[in-house]
Amino acid sequence: MLPPIQFQLLITILRIGPPQVNKFPLQLQNDDVYTACASVILDLVKEAMQYERLQGSDVRCHLCAHNCLIHNGQRGICAVRENRDGTLYSLVYGKVVSVNIDPIEKKPLFHFLPGSTSLSIATVGCNFRCKHCQNYEISQFPRERKFPIPGRDMQPEDIVSAAADNRCASVSYTYTEPTIFFEFAHDCARIASEKGIKNVFVSNGYTGAEATRVIAPYLSANNIDLKGSDKFYREICGARLEPVKNTIRLMKELGVWVEVTTLIIPDLNDSEKDLTGIAEFICSVDSSIPWHVSQFYPTYKLLDKPRTPVEKLRHARDIGYKSGLKYVYEGNVPGAGGEDTSCPGCKEIVIKRFGYRIIENRLRNGKCPKCGGTIEGVWV
Ligand code: SF4
Repeated sequence: MLPPIQFQLLITILRIGPPQVNKFPLQLQNDDVYTACASVILDLVKEAMQYERLQGSDVRCHLCAHNCLIHNGQRGICAVRENRDGTLYSLVYGKVVSVNIDPIEKKPLFHFLPGSTSLSIATVGCNFRCKHCQNYEISQFPRERKFPIPGRDMQPEDIVSAAADNRCASVSYTYTEPTIFFEFAHDCARIASEKGIKNVFVSNGYTGAEATRVIAPYLSANNIDLKGSDKFYREICGARLEPVKNTIRLMKELGVWVEVTTLIIPDLNDSEKDLTGIAEFICSVDSSIPWHVSQFYPTYKLLDKPRTPVEKLRHARDIGYKSGLKYVYEGNVPGAGGEDTSCPGCKEIVIKRFGYRIIENRLRNGKCPKCGGTIEGVWV
């Protein structure tokens, strides 16, 4: 006898019609993800980028720093790339589970086209297993549910048209890790660039070096999580720290605007040593990289940890400034005063925010209106 969820899936597949282009915003989560499973009837897959064929039918995927060795019939750690007779396929190409029009501040990107909107998309899957994932229903779906890959079938042209029709300045590849839907993101980004629409990755930074070089020409901005120490990465995320640092460095070298986010979790990554280590690393790459220190709330497998106290965020912000960073922001605490952009020279507030809303933008061609100092970012 089928478990209830699988039974529900079967009923849904029988009930639903052919996939349609979505109305926006659309977000498929929880039960809706199962509804979206209807599109698996088509079993559309795309040959993967960034892999090599090995002896026999084995392949090695180089898309991210896991560099998975994948035997015939198996999938990589992300569970959305499958070896079929020596050819690696992406199982999530065009299988979109979330489409929303978001303020760019939500990514968060505070120094990139402030006040603009971004068409934000995701497929299921992730190469991390973070115990505090806020989007675990979709990021961990391929690992935790014994279903075919869900998603509404959309082509890159559909995504770019939707962005243009809704006057979005950018397309964001977000909610789940864009590296694992790289082929789709790459095609969308190429077409969006041709139409003058910018592209944004919101990423865990585990992208392989070659893949980073391939996507960078189409990317205008990348918010990268820098989550904590190597111990934190190994124990909480199933990954390692060093590749993330490498991606931050490389994205900067390649001219992509980078902002960094750290979700501060009580007792896990909030020590003086951890926070100073993160801030000093960012500063060593470029002191003008904005650092977002965000409030954690209990979710998924970390239900035993409390919300991050606002005082802790403030302390992290102080550490950032003391380490030499020019721009540090408190995230997920609207109105607490840590969201405004101040001029690093004269401390004048140049952009005032409340949550994701811009209350006032006083920038003049990227300069402080009081002292004329440069505020780094992508402003037009
Ligand atoms: S994207 Fe990363 S996790 Fe997925 S198969 Fe490739 S190397 Fe493995």
